[in-house]
Amino acid sequence: MRAEMNDFSTVAPPSHAEDTLSSVWTKVRACMQCGTCTGSCVNAHAMDLTPRELWRMVQLGLKDEIFASKTFWLCSSCYYCTLRCPRGLPLTETMGALKRLATAEGILKEKRSPRFYRSFMETVRRYGRVREMEMMARYFLALKSPITPLAFTPLGIRLMAKGKVAPRMPSFSGRGKLDALYRKVKEVEARS
Ligand code: SF4
Ligand code: SF4
Repeated sequence: MRAEMNDFSTVAPPSHAEDTLSSVWTKVRACMQCGTCTGSCVNAHAMDLTPRELWRMVQLGLKDEIFASKTFWLCSSCYYCTLRCPRGLPLTETMGALKRLATAEGILKEKRSPRFYRSFMETVRRYGRVREMEMMARYFLALKSPITPLAFTPLGIRLMAKGKVAPRMPSFSGRGKLDALYRKVKEVEARS
């Protein structure tokens, strides 16, 4: 009986979730709404939907609400929720799948988080580690907002004063070394 209750292989997605969301729905259809993922997530306080709420919306096929949310953009891929989910669901992978779907379909209602994410990833690809000054320059350019850098100036000065951000270009030995890895990830993502 227990095996039957836990067998989700024959459960069909809601009809309205059959298009864009169907691959994501498959990953979290066995979510039992225990909330362990939310309780484990270091970024849940900043999310508009908790991870548990997001998975419920995926189960219900609420595409507009899901892609209007910034929750998946704020996932920092720490894998803590994935390690702790009692159902063993691939939650970090699913957050990544939502980012890719939103990008592929041009559903970028939340603009700042995806642009920050892309600036971060591009800088890491180029140098093998994050280079803060370039990452923020890329982010500001992507936002196309002349006011935003001014808002970050006090924080930038404080970080520089504490030695957390290097004003000059440090030497990097990892330049270009992640290119092959990024290419491979892109191939894998295109297939998933
Ligand atoms: S920890 Fe797993 S089962 Fe529990 S709410 Fe999160 S996704 Fe669902
Ligand atoms: S992988 Fe993402 S959603 Fe999961 S706990 Fe970490 S930040 Fe939160």
